[in-house]
Amino acid sequence: MMEDLRPYLRQIQLAGFGEEAQHKLLASTVAVIGAGGLGSPLLLYLTAAGIGNLHIFDPDHVDITNLNRQILYTPTQIGTSKADSIAQSLKLLNPKLHIHAYPHSAQECGFDFSQVDVIADATDNFTSRYYLNTVALKTSKPWVHASIYGAEGRVTSFIPGKTPCYHCLNPMSHREKIAADGHPVLGVAAGIGGILQAAEIINFLAFGQFALAGKLLTYDLYDMTFDTLDIPYLDRCPACGGP
Ligand SMILES: [Zn+2]
Repeated sequence: MMEDLRPYLRQIQLAGFGEEAQHKLLASTVAVIGAGGLGSPLLLYLTAAGIGNLHIFDPDHVDITNLNRQILYTPTQIGTSKADSIAQSLKLLNPKLHIHAYPHSAQECGFDFSQVDVIADATDNFTSRYYLNTVALKTSKPWVHASIYGAEGRVTSFIPGKTPCYHCLNPMSHREKIAADGHPVLGVAAGIGGILQAAEIINFLAFGQFALAGKLLTYDLYDMTFDTLDIPYLDRCPACGGP
């Protein structure tokens, strides 16, 4: 049976997009690590855009203090598994997609990342990011990273063998000491980060390239500045080996 592409008509109309790019999205598999402030808008747009296969990981449960930014959760879902609850909401939005929820961390699942096309880092801690960096380098999978603090955020995309890696970007051990839990977040700063990640993933799946490969986009929503800078390789990087 022919796939009903009507939900995607307005993006199919984009110059250079067409049904071909839409079929690529529908055949794609994305792993989203974290279903919080970044993961909510990211997953919302990946679902609406028709990414055919989504794997969602989050060991946490919905907390009342999540609600300023984790926009797919309602007060009635407090205490429920984030991965399970968000998957239910996304299935209502686009019932034809294959959406898999894992109420655990990706590490705990021992998930096989070699089956995905792109990994999205929507976590809030350095341990998970370094784990994803290792996994991505090992499986040669591209991944899109975002992080937020207050009204500021940063987004970049990594391609093993072609760009610097996360360790190149963040080699400083003192950064690991910044506690992620409980830090202040303007909800919309997470929203922008997650939406930029979704745009990067759609770019990659539809057209085969990231706009932010090897580049760090930073933004500050208090003064509405957006900047992009090149990420240098770390000389003799212990993770990717450097240039
Ligand atoms: Zn590196």
